[in-house]
Amino acid sequence: MIEISINGRKVTAKDGDTVLKTAREHGISIPHLCFHPALKPSGACRLCGVENRPVSGKKIMMLSCILKVKPGLDIRTESDLVTAHRQKAFDKLLTMAPDSVRIRELAEKFNVPVSPRPDGCIRCRLCVRVCNDIIGARAIAMVKTETGSHVGPGDGACMGCGTCANLCPTQFITVRDQDNVRTVSIGGQVLSRLPLERCEACGSRYATARFLAHVDGNTGDHVHARQGHHFCPSCTKMMSSRARTENEHLRK
Ligand code: SF4
Repeated sequence: MIEISINGRKVTAKDGDTVLKTAREHGISIPHLCFHPALKPSGACRLCGVENRPVSGKKIMMLSCILKVKPGLDIRTESDLVTAHRQKAFDKLLTMAPDSVRIRELAEKFNVPVSPRPDGCIRCRLCVRVCNDIIGARAIAMVKTETGSHVGPGDGACMGCGTCANLCPTQFITVRDQDNVRTVSIGGQVLSRLPLERCEACGSRYATARFLAHVDGNTGDHVHARQGHHFCPSCTKMMSSRARTENEHLRK
């Protein structure tokens, strides 16, 4: 048997065993994912790094699944060096498998802070800014939670204009028109469900009553701008090209 020190505690180990195996046998936790007792260790995940403190020389990080015990070995499984090494290893693994519950749970167990699980939103805030600064509905806001901030409902009421979804670069916000109702969702969570009004020309459902009322209230004396909003985009386009053609005829 060989005696080594782990975290200042003397433990015995079998000759030829690794530090990871010895630590496990003595109830000392070291994170690891790529180790399996039936296979040769590879050190691929790098999570099992430990600090080796040689009598002479500086502290070095070594992978405990590979490091074999030898007399006098002085190992730390918790230290600033180990913490920094673990952080890097977890971050690297999560760039490859960001949705892995197992990696995230392991990081939590060892108190390693990791980036929140990606939800499809890049926090560009385009949706929030356009809703607040241009549309004026204040229906979307950045909401703070324990895991960071995310896009959620704001103080105001969504009018179903869909501008946020048009600007969203990742399609995290969606607009769906079905059965004469427009549904705006943020990351799958419904923000609003509003009935659609008919186009005054063709009768197709195209905009919500709340949005049309908003446009009416903000176009003031601009009668033509207000009228245009009571037609769907196709009819508006058709009418303006017809008006253009008529004007050209009159000019001839
Ligand atoms: S929901 Fe879309 S627009 Fe809004 S912050 Fe996220 S990515 Fe940007």
